[in-house]
Amino acid sequence: MAGRILIADDVATNRIVLKVKLMAACYEVLQASGGAEAIECARTDAPDLILLDLLMPDMDGVAVCKQLKEDPLTAHIPIIMVTAHNDSTLKINALRAGADEFMTKPLDELTLLARVRSLLRARDTDEELRLRDSTCRELGFAEKATSFTPPSTIAMIAAKPETAVSWKAALGKALNDKVIVTPKEQALSQTEAKDAPDVYVIACDLAKPDEGLRLMSELRSRPETRHSAIIMVIPKGAHSKSATALDLGANDLMFEGFDPEEMALRLKTQIKRKHQADRLRETVRDGLRMAVIDPLTGLYNRRYAMPHLTRIAERAKSTHRPYAVMVLDIDRFKSVNDTYGHAAGDVVLQVVANRIKDNLRGVDMVARIGGEEFLVVMPDTQLDDARQTAERLCHVIDSSPIALAAGKGSADISLSIGVSMGGLHGGVRTVDQLIESADHALYMAKSDGRNQVIFSRNAA
Ligand code: GH3
Ligand code: MG
Ligand code: MG
Repeated sequence: MAGRILIADDVATNRIVLKVKLMAACYEVLQASGGAEAIECARTDAPDLILLDLLMPDMDGVAVCKQLKEDPLTAHIPIIMVTAHNDSTLKINALRAGADEFMTKPLDELTLLARVRSLLRARDTDEELRLRDSTCRELGFAEKATSFTPPSTIAMIAAKPETAVSWKAALGKALNDKVIVTPKEQALSQTEAKDAPDVYVIACDLAKPDEGLRLMSELRSRPETRHSAIIMVIPKGAHSKSATALDLGANDLMFEGFDPEEMALRLKTQIKRKHQADRLRETVRDGLRMAVIDPLTGLYNRRYAMPHLTRIAERAKSTHRPYAVMVLDIDRFKSVNDTYGHAAGDVVLQVVANRIKDNLRGVDMVARIGGEEFLVVMPDTQLDDARQTAERLCHVIDSSPIALAAGKGSADISLSIGVSMGGLHGGVRTVDQLIESADHALYMAKSDGRNQVIFSRNAA
């Protein structure tokens, strides 16, 4: 089965016409005769895509769309809004409500099927990336999600530079992104993926008819530009090219003489998707992550921790907010190994790592920097908060014994912690000095009986 598509339309004939077309292309078809029924069906039957009529007696399509996009259960389902009128206000409202596309009845079969394929492809990539991301999260090395979208670059390519300049002018201040007018040759001479535009807007016809389509295929085949989004601008009256453009990999389409507001909305969607995919790809970039994660505990390793601490220190210098550096060491760990065996020692390390992580904020960094030694860096942290946190960490380790493998009983474990503060009193100490002071404080905590927190003298 190619996928499951929900048709929501109050007119039975409309549903049947669409159903025949979709079934001929091997899609499974679900039907709803109103808005409420469509929402119900989307929630229970999880269709892969929804064709949503704009005008239905019980609920209008835009409201249905909004509701589906706000519900985490259905938000990811692509929606094609269908209407009898080609009205630009309706179109803008539909796109604003989160619709992925807007099509006018009677639906051109080729374009509809190409659009469905394109949306299903985008959704598959999205799901695959999401899955890998959640695997990474489970392994303990995922980046935190950010809703911040950095300013993007949009490159416009048309047969005549004046045309691209006029597109750029039409967008005006609708976007905060950088819009550049680029000759075709320049797009093809892109050498670094990191410098590639986030979105290309390309005219279907360049010096020769359909040359824009060939340019798109070329950009898609190159590693430097493969991940950029592409919006193809189709000449008026050449709607038959839409299907080809979508099947060749266009992320979206516009028609010559487009409404700038619509173009801005479509660009925003593409930019957002592009950055999401970039971020997910970043998280899963093979090998690299594995190189900075300790496999036993899932914590960062020393290789990651040191440069990261330097970055925190640099930021603290500009924000003038103090931060805490803690070195934690398990007490008499050697005797745990000697008594219970090395494997049990490993279990203890894992449990201690989890307890430490679970008792810190997301912004705090935890790393395993030695056999049974950990580093915690807490940005934006005052002395009192650092003290409370360190005491709490000692307590969560010492307060309940750690269960070992079946039949091996449990072990009483404790931690000693040395703390130094950065960014206090003008923050003149270097990162190395901070670690050294924390180490010295840890040494004091050990020699003074263990299972306690000692602050470095310059901090207290
Ligand atoms: P102290 O209270 O002074 O910290 O005493 P300690 O026994 O914890 O410290 P010491 O440095 O003497 O011993 C640390 C032990 O940790 C020795 C080493 O075999 C063990 N160790 C280091 N890495 C691992 C590991 O990955 N797994 C296990 N099971 N043990 C480890
Ligand atoms: Mg130790
Ligand atoms: Mg040690």
